[in-house]
Amino acid sequence: MADPRGFLTTPQQHPERRPVAERVQDWKEVYPPGALLPIISKQAGRCMDCGIPFCHNGCPLGNIIPEWNDLVWKGDWEAAADRLHATNNFPEFTGRLCPAPCETACVLGINQPAVTIKNVEVSIIDRAWEDGTVTPLPPERLSGRTVAVIGSGPAGLAAAQQLTRAGHTVAVYERADRIGGLLRYGIPEFKMEKRHLNRRVEQMRAEGTKFRPGMHIGVDLTGDALLARYDAIVLAVGATKARDLEVPGRDLAGVHQAMDYLPYANKTCEGDYLTAPIDAFGKHVVVIGGGDTGADCLGTATRQGAASVTQLEIMPRPTEDRPAGQPWPTYPMIFRVASAHEENGERLYAVSTTEFVGDENGRVQALRLTEVRFEGGRPVPVPGTEREIPADLVLLAMGFVGPERGNGLIDQLGLALDERGNIARDGEYATNVPGVFVAGDAGRGQSLIVWAIAEGRSAASSVDAYLSGSSTLPKPIPPTARPVTV
Ligand SMILES: Cc1cc2nc3c(=O)[nH]c(=O)nc-3n(C[C@H](O)[C@H](O)[C@H](O)COP(=O)(O)OP(=O)(O)OC[C@H]3O[C@@H](n4cnc5c(N)ncnc54)[C@H](O)[C@@H]3O)c2cc1C
Ligand code: SF4
Repeated sequence: MADPRGFLTTPQQHPERRPVAERVQDWKEVYPPGALLPIISKQAGRCMDCGIPFCHNGCPLGNIIPEWNDLVWKGDWEAAADRLHATNNFPEFTGRLCPAPCETACVLGINQPAVTIKNVEVSIIDRAWEDGTVTPLPPERLSGRTVAVIGSGPAGLAAAQQLTRAGHTVAVYERADRIGGLLRYGIPEFKMEKRHLNRRVEQMRAEGTKFRPGMHIGVDLTGDALLARYDAIVLAVGATKARDLEVPGRDLAGVHQAMDYLPYANKTCEGDYLTAPIDAFGKHVVVIGGGDTGADCLGTATRQGAASVTQLEIMPRPTEDRPAGQPWPTYPMIFRVASAHEENGERLYAVSTTEFVGDENGRVQALRLTEVRFEGGRPVPVPGTEREIPADLVLLAMGFVGPERGNGLIDQLGLALDERGNIARDGEYATNVPGVFVAGDAGRGQSLIVWAIAEGRSAASSVDAYLSGSSTLPKPIPPTARPVTV
């Protein structure tokens, strides 16, 4: 156990974010480098090394959290990094980006602020990179079997790394011009600087994984050609079909999906553009959708110099404390303040958009909304609450409905879909087509990075068993695993 009295004597502490006035001037991460190191050992010492560590149940990766808390408390950072990598290929992604269901499941959280598990995780891995202990781990022997991974988000990367290390020859195909999926072009630089992603891709390349960006499978290479060329295929194509809002004025110029907007901002940070083709400078921006993607749009618009940003959410404002129906150890729907919310913008709850209003040139200039109340679980407009707010740029951030259809891949391979429109799979992540497996959002529906990594690892184990007869690769979750509920 870490510090036996730590949970009694040490209060929870988070590092300070950089001052708002400073950080909105650049795209760097909101936490200053090294901010955690002075506080993190004592924070790790708050862990009680529970007999039944519920943090494990919260995390789909099955991270061995009490062990690395203990090791950090003792100062054995290298061993802590080994424990971390035993269950997670990319802790620097989850340590920065995960909403940390492990923390809402932490036993200490029953009557005190939880152990800051995510901060311990990111401290361990950042230090390991700095100390040079994260090195390529190429396989000792090659199996002679080949695998194509389609999609280079966290699910595809995790599957590819596991299968490469198991000795298979793996190529990752990605239709975008750079590797990373939503880690690259969805998540803004201020949440995770892309250098962390680039470093991992280089490690994987040194291990032998081949990367083929700019290859749209189903268009540049058919499903049949892929089947003929590889012994197995892992589909990790994400759930990138965005939910739309069919109200009058949807076709006006200036109304965009969040994932049409965010990639341009990320590409601008990569140096591809001087100014993003869709840019918020000087505009009244309205973001429809109160979730994380909406917050990413808000932070991006702030940094581009928007005149104002308003974020709309149809649901009522959540409470600050756990609602009655969402007790520990579930992940509760509570009022959360992302770094972007600290910086700028107004959040409106229980409102619904009824129309986009255009000017004489067909450009959006205002958004009409109404307040709603919920009757029988459905939003109902409140009469007399209709009003208009200025809107020169509208960003739709209302979630995703499943993998894209119509680009050839699903039809060419003859893949069955489940009732929610995701790619159907059995308990081994296998689709209805022999040798074709599916991992991540493409099979699960829109989810989180931590689930994508867990699925990529698990699917890799199934693929390895399919190719080799058996597998020693870990399989943290079955495809049916879901977050902890009551
Ligand atoms: C803006 C935004 C912010 C988010 N922020 C967070 C966060 O902070 N924390 C968190 O945990 N989760 C977050 N998420 C969710 C998280 O990013 C996803 O759950 C995760 O990336 C899913 O991983 P994946 O590997 O299944 O798919 P993706 O990351 O979606 O990757 C799929 C890849 O497949 C490629 N592809 C698709 N079809 C083809 C084809 N036919 N040929 C070749 N390539 C193809 C796509 O171009 C894409 O690069 C966010 C999502 C969005 C949209
Ligand atoms: S539940 Fe919390 S206190 Fe218990 S072992 Fe996990 S991190 Fe430590």
